[in-house]
Amino acid sequence: MPRIQVPLGDRSYEVLIGPRLLPSLGERCRKLNLGRRCLVVTDENVKKIAAKTAKKSLRDAGFEVTVHSIPPGEGSKNLKQLQLGYRQMAELQLERGSFVVALGGGVVGDLAGFLAASYLRGIDLVQIPTTLLAQVDSSVGGKTGINLKAGKNLVGAFHQPRLVLCDLDLLATLPPREFRAGMAEVVKYGIIRDARLFALLEKKYSQILNQESKPLAQVIAQSCRIKAEVVTQDEQEQGLRAILNYGHTIGHALEAITGYGKYLHGEAISIGQVAAAALSETILGLEPQASERIRNLLAAIGLPIYASLNARQITRLLEAMLLDKKVSDKKTRFVLADRIGNVLTGQNVPSALIRSTLVAGSRHASRK
Ligand code: ADP
Ligand code: ZN
Repeated sequence: MPRIQVPLGDRSYEVLIGPRLLPSLGERCRKLNLGRRCLVVTDENVKKIAAKTAKKSLRDAGFEVTVHSIPPGEGSKNLKQLQLGYRQMAELQLERGSFVVALGGGVVGDLAGFLAASYLRGIDLVQIPTTLLAQVDSSVGGKTGINLKAGKNLVGAFHQPRLVLCDLDLLATLPPREFRAGMAEVVKYGIIRDARLFALLEKKYSQILNQESKPLAQVIAQSCRIKAEVVTQDEQEQGLRAILNYGHTIGHALEAITGYGKYLHGEAISIGQVAAAALSETILGLEPQASERIRNLLAAIGLPIYASLNARQITRLLEAMLLDKKVSDKKTRFVLADRIGNVLTGQNVPSALIRSTLVAGSRHASRK
């Protein structure tokens, strides 16, 4: 079973990837000497699938467990759910030594993570990501938070978990569209850091989509390894961590202008990665064949690679990119690839080029 160390001094932790991990939760928490009382935060869908096993495992290991469930979806990453969570924690009289288990996708991970980060100035957190996206991305690295009306993830904290369990069995019930969307982040790791991972995906994507455990574990582990490596070198997002934003500048803007309803995050960044590859050809001389491999792989996985946008929507998208909270000096800086497996951050792209790339993409989208 792949085990990945995230070395952060006295806050170091492990990410375990494999089948049948959830039943071992209690035992593993005991080995980490976590406090007696814990709150399992989950959503209503995941509760039906996994809460019972989590609860039993924790109880059998001697923990006092309460399950707190939130409505599924991004809409739950709000102040109201935060308040309900705090209320529950206070009622249970959680103490400094108590801990939170985040059992769910990215939404649960972010909200539960922030509850743990802020209650009593921070208590222990265990992440059990149940979506592919959360397993390869949001559960590793310590970012937690909620959305405000003014924007996504505007309130949050860095709070590293004590343990991350990526149980492959949990992915069996994930809707196929959610699974494919998670694959967009896996492809991203190949592009930014690992040409071999990219080639493996080209060869094995259909087995992976069928959730064959060996190649699936292999690509999840490699994704977590890359994320862990980037995060340990740049825990607070000062520099290197920016490479993780490949495909996200346009992707985030696309999510924003479509009201976070049309595209799943992974779908939007699939389109963003294809556009970034096109920009990379002009700005960094990325070979057209490399750009084509990126398009082909994402399309083979079943992800959208172009968005159909009219001139007005493209203008709104360009504006939305400037509103991105990572924009510092009114200039959108891109992460671009000079080859598959390597990217450069801080790339300045003329907005005329972004526009013409999006126009070309829209033509492709409407041709289909
Ligand atoms: P993400 O991890 O992509 O940020 P969410 O936390 O919003 O996503 O989860 C996406 C959806 O999938 C939610 O409706 C959630 O309840 C559901 N979900 C999460 N994990 C599973 C699972 N293992 N099986 C079935 N549905 C799941
Ligand atoms: Zn992402």
